[in-house]
Amino acid sequence: MSIITDLTRMWLTRSARAFTFTSDYDKVLEYKDDDNLGLYIHIPFCRKLCNFCPYCKTVYSAEAAQKYIDALIREIHMVGNMIEGKKTVTSLYFGGGTPALIADRLSEIIEAVNEHYVITEGIGLELHPDNVRPDILKKIRDAGVTKISIGIQSFGEKYQEILGRGAVDREALKSALSEVSFETVSMDLIFALPGQTFEDLKEDSDTAFETGANHVAIYPFIDFTFTSSKVTAMPKKMKKDLLDRITDYFDEKGYRRDSIWTFSNSEGAKYSSMTRENFLGFGCSATTLLKDSFKINTFSTEEYIKRIDGGVIPTSLTIRFTPRQRMVYWLFWTMYSTRLDSRAFEKFFGVPLKKMYGMEFALAKFLGFVEQKDGIYSLTTKGAFYYHYYENYYTLAYIDKMWGIMRKEAFPESIRL
Ligand code: SF4
Repeated sequence: MSIITDLTRMWLTRSARAFTFTSDYDKVLEYKDDDNLGLYIHIPFCRKLCNFCPYCKTVYSAEAAQKYIDALIREIHMVGNMIEGKKTVTSLYFGGGTPALIADRLSEIIEAVNEHYVITEGIGLELHPDNVRPDILKKIRDAGVTKISIGIQSFGEKYQEILGRGAVDREALKSALSEVSFETVSMDLIFALPGQTFEDLKEDSDTAFETGANHVAIYPFIDFTFTSSKVTAMPKKMKKDLLDRITDYFDEKGYRRDSIWTFSNSEGAKYSSMTRENFLGFGCSATTLLKDSFKINTFSTEEYIKRIDGGVIPTSLTIRFTPRQRMVYWLFWTMYSTRLDSRAFEKFFGVPLKKMYGMEFALAKFLGFVEQKDGIYSLTTKGAFYYHYYENYYTLAYIDKMWGIMRKEAFPESIRL
């Protein structure tokens, strides 16, 4: 599998050089001049750990959470003070973990962020379905949250055991969401679960929209090697049929596709922390992408707090990109939105897209993966599936390897991908 990603990397970066992350890191982050900057904050606590979940999380305790939030607020000020004045950013997303577990301190965190940054496109927060209660929703809305994303995974009872989850109370969900409104209510659903049919997936997405979502994210089930999930991946052909049929169904309904896996039924509904040109991440396991580097914080909450107590930012690994590596990264994540403006590429890199990747885009057009109009490349349904398929390889070849190591070692010497 990694042969595919290795060859693609060599072809696109025009170099045999691997993506190498090392423990050598910057004490000061240079982000003053970076445009289209997003913010991300990781809250790693959950009441119960789900067996399929690959994210950095730990079992909640009130004491550990208080210490973590104190450190997090100090990290925000530390990084915020690295530049003069307030920096304009697009959005702030809270992920986890279960951010609702620290709802009482959310406004304190957001106030710390507002001291250093001006947020222009709202604040998003992930919620576990059990936390979709009017009291919690009001608390987070009053703190400034404008978009929520609820990790449903599936409404189908037959999947709750596989996912290590309890049944979702649809009525309670619907009633809480009608009482407290948000600009975007997104629901995460998993597809390609064992034996899952188009009807199952259609039922899940219809239920999502009926219970109050205006946006859904349909993520493929990815079998990470380090999770204890016993579920095996669905064969490619079945997965393709499932994704094609649900995409056609959403098309018929007039829903908008705003990224490979996300669809909405209203114009303003958007939920994505991934399609930013640059971002700053706070908290354990959070990542930071700047003009020429990518950083990942330690996965250990204890080591994270120790670093912050010592007045040092918690970066564990850093990769310094070659220009071509940065271009590949930019192209990959921009294409995730299914749409790529060649002028934005030229603005970011100072060189025309055609000059750097004209041949690749001509080939993608010839193969029917993209269409081009007025300098904008859009993924076709076929292209979106193959992007999704490649993303699976990428996730297993790169993220699986990296997260597998980071979960065991707080500060590895280096990782070559
Ligand atoms: S799926 Fe959500 S609730 Fe379950 S362990 Fe992962 S972050 Fe926690």
